[in-house]
Amino acid sequence: MTSKSFIKSSLEAAEILKVEPPENHQDIENKYPFLVSDYYLSLIDTSARDIENDPIWQQCMPSSLELEDTESEIDPLAEEMQTVVPRLIHRYPDRAVLLVTGKCATRCRFCFRKRTWSDGNELADISKAELAKACAYLRANPKISEVLISGGDPLMLSYDKLAFILDELSSIKSISILRLGSRVPVTLPSLVTNKMIKLLSSYSGLWLMTHFNHPRELTFESIKLCGDIIKAGIPILNQTVLLKGVNDDALVLEELFRGLIVIKVKPHYLFHIDPVRGVRHFATGIEKGLEILSYFRSTLSSLAVPTFAIDLPEGGGKVALQPEYCCEGKYPSVVDGGLLPY
Ligand SMILES: *Cc1c(COP(=O)(O)O)cnc(C)c1O
Repeated sequence: MTSKSFIKSSLEAAEILKVEPPENHQDIENKYPFLVSDYYLSLIDTSARDIENDPIWQQCMPSSLELEDTESEIDPLAEEMQTVVPRLIHRYPDRAVLLVTGKCATRCRFCFRKRTWSDGNELADISKAELAKACAYLRANPKISEVLISGGDPLMLSYDKLAFILDELSSIKSISILRLGSRVPVTLPSLVTNKMIKLLSSYSGLWLMTHFNHPRELTFESIKLCGDIIKAGIPILNQTVLLKGVNDDALVLEELFRGLIVIKVKPHYLFHIDPVRGVRHFATGIEKGLEILSYFRSTLSSLAVPTFAIDLPEGGGKVALQPEYCCEGKYPSVVDGGLLPY
């Protein structure tokens, strides 16, 4: 599929698929807007007996459960608190996150930055003045050697805007690594042109972090795009979010991770979902991730096994969890300490 069109209501999406729209869709979308690319929508298996259990459907179609979660915080990772200048999140000494746009090719219903697009408050593209301030901060803090370019999705920016941002960041002497996080290779691969790939390959130290969650997302188009990106010399890592009912199954994840290493995409992180308002119904519990990891121990090449991690609340940062840290059902003290609501 080469067209690049977006569907902005689940009612319209359901009409295209010739199925019933999700219950209560209008109320849900008033709070958490809907957006899906025609490409990603086409990955839904409409022949499935229970379409609402389809892994692609669950990731992009609204669910009333989003509105039922009124207790979780909107920013449990304290990203706002660790925002040092607008759009720049500085949590660790050597790396910082820059939010360059609020746009995405598909609104993932489990998004941990739902706060940046709920109630119609979509983050605009970064302005030149904002970028200049972020760059001034990075220059003044030369211990930061890596910028994670995130959003939204940086590959939704126009070629010129992205080129400008990458040029500005790479002109900072202390910055040697750019980690660009994008789900476009999964949700709308045709958006990434050869010209864009050439641009990305012109920066040394640029890594792409993409986000496949299910083997059904490994389509001809996305595999072809990842191949072209890797051929251009850009390494690709993948992060997966463990999602209840979507991929919280060792065999599903095994198929995904095996598929990824065949195309030279390294499974890097498997995240437990963050306790963000509106996504709680996707939470599996940490035990589920550890159980899957124990299964991988003997069955899966270490090339294919990602690090299972949780992001601690209050900006505490990521913690990697491994089954052998646990003895007889006891989990690390960070978990036992009641810091996590799950
Ligand atoms: C995840 C994250 C990073 C990157 O951490 P790594 O362990 O290098 O993947 C940096 N800053 C913030 C705020 C993060 O959330």
